[in-house]
Order: sequence, then structure tokens, then C-alpha cells
Amino acid sequence: MDLPTVTGYRSARTPADLALEPGERFLAGGTWLFSDPHPDVTGLVDLTTMGWTALEESAAGLRVAATCTIAELAAYRGAWRAQPLFLQSASALLASFKVWNVATVGGNICRGFAAAAMTSLCTALDGVAEVWMPGGDAYRVPVAELATGNGTTALRPGEVLRAVDLPAAALRARTALRRIALAERGRSGAVVIGRLDEDGAAVFSITAATERPGILRYDRLPDAGALRADVHALPGYYTDPLGAADWRRHVSAELADEIRAELAA
Ligand SMILES: Cc1cc2nc3c(=O)[nH]c(=O)nc-3n(C[C@H](O)[C@H](O)[C@H](O)COP(=O)(O)OP(=O)(O)OC[C@H]3O[C@@H](n4cnc5c(N)ncnc54)[C@H](O)[C@@H]3O)c2cc1C
Repeated sequence: MDLPTVTGYRSARTPADLALEPGERFLAGGTWLFSDPHPDVTGLVDLTTMGWTALEESAAGLRVAATCTIAELAAYRGAWRAQPLFLQSASALLASFKVWNVATVGGNICRGFAAAAMTSLCTALDGVAEVWMPGGDAYRVPVAELATGNGTTALRPGEVLRAVDLPAAALRARTALRRIALAERGRSGAVVIGRLDEDGAAVFSITAATERPGILRYDRLPDAGALRADVHALPGYYTDPLGAADWRRHVSAELADEIRAELAA
């Protein structure tokens, strides 16, 4: 849709260009920005012109630029054991052709919906966000802590998500993902990802079903009863037109159980 109040557009090319004037908003893929009215927005600052390399591999892991598109991430073919999780997570989005090709990892995380599949991916892999503050300083925070609710994040005005770093240890893990939605092409009602690390530790992340990511960590794969009880006990299951809270809780426990069995095999 048109944003008729927008009278200014700037292509950001340097960190200094990221200082927002009153009424300005960061623009990434624009798939959400241009899908809703924003009468308070008078200018857009395009992040995609910053020239950040989409994906950078190193011994430490994988750096995913905030401006990496869903399509680039889905097409990435690294040598990590967790590799299948990239396409699986991207496919958990209710993504049209447009969203798939221009929506960004950063835009998905920063919009902060509970059903943000890039948040699912990055929290399951212990992703750490690098955030640039107005004035030039930066800080690092786990992606799981950026999400504060269904549609809210911990980002303060003017802060930019620069990249997410996925550590090599998590990328070397075996992973499994399960997703469920009430409608065949509906937005996710629950996305559960399990991770079995090389040292035997296990991580289960529950997203879309809860208002913010729920992370369960174990020294080794838990038994079925313990995992089910822990998933049930997570806070934040919510009700909206895409699913009732008790349904989300129930299916999350079922999906976690399936994942546990797959990782145990
Ligand atoms: C058909 C359709 C289906 C969708 N399905 C889903 C879905 O299943 N799950 C879901 O979560 N969302 C969904 N969305 C919402 C949205 O399109 C996605 O969340 C998308 O990933 C947003 O990415 P973008 O790059 O287009 O962000 P934009 O629309 O450009 O930006 C989104 C918000 O994030 C801010 N922002 C963007 N990048 C940064 C950054 N690096 N630092 C700081 N702030 C930033 C922008 O200022 C804006 O407020 C859907 C939208 C449509 C139109």
C-alpha cells in the first residue's frame, strides 16, 4: 500500500546515515512497512544500501547480516550439520513470493511477531544480535532476549540490528524442526526446534506458540515426561485468531516429543 505521509527517502551508506530524524523509520524489505498504514512515518531510511555482506562464514560460526533476505538464507549451502534448519525455518514463514524474495532476516526479527521464523531459527541456534546504537556505540544481546512480546522488541528508538552471529558449536549440532498452523497456509501457531549438541547437551526452543521465545536447556536429551512437563510449564502461551492458548500449549508439547524421538534415534 502507499504510505501517503512519507515525503522523504534516504539510502543509508555509512553509519552516520543511520541517525534518524523525527518521523523517519528504518526500511529493510518493506514487506511489513508497506502492508499497514503508518500515519506517523514521514521518512524512510533504507538499510539495504549499507552494503553488508549477507552471510559470512568463519571458524567462529556464521554471521547473518540483518539485510540478508529470506531467499538468500534459504539458498545458503554451508557445511554445517544444522544446515537443513535454514530452509526449514524460512519455510515456516507465511511467505508470499514477495516476502520470500525481499523480506530480510533483520526485518523479521525487528518486527517482533511471535511467528517470526527468523527469531525461531536464531534462538534455536543461540544467535547473538549485534545492535548499533545512535551515536556509534554497539552492544550484543541474545536474539531470544530481543523479543519481548508478540509484536514488541527490546530495541530502543534509533537502534539498528546490524547482524546475528550463529556460533559454530550450535551449527555443528543435529537439529529438527516441527511447525503447525490451524490453516494449511496460515501463519504458524507453533514452531518447535530441537538441537542435540556434539557434547550431548540438548536445547528445545518454542516460538510462535508463546509471546516470546521459550528456551529449554538440558545436559542430555530429557525423557519424554520431563520434556512434556517443561513445555507445558513455559509461560506466555496466548490466544489469537490463529490459535487458542491451550491448543498452542498442547501442540508444542506434542511437537517437542516428536523432535525428542527424532534426535534420540
Ligand atoms: C503476505 C505476508 C505474510 C507474512 N507472514 C509473516 C509470518 O509468517 N511471520 C512473521 O513474523 N511476519 C510475517 N509477515 C510480516 C513481515 O512481512 C515479515 O515479518 C518480514 O520478515 C519483515 O521483514 P522486512 O525486511 O520486509 O521488514 P520491513 O517491513 O522493512 O521492516 C519491519 C520493521 O522492522 C524495522 N526494521 C527492519 N530492519 C531493521 C533493522 N535491521 N534494525 C532495526 N529495525 C529494523 C522497520 O523499521 C520496521 O518497523 C508477513 C507479511 C506479509 C505481507
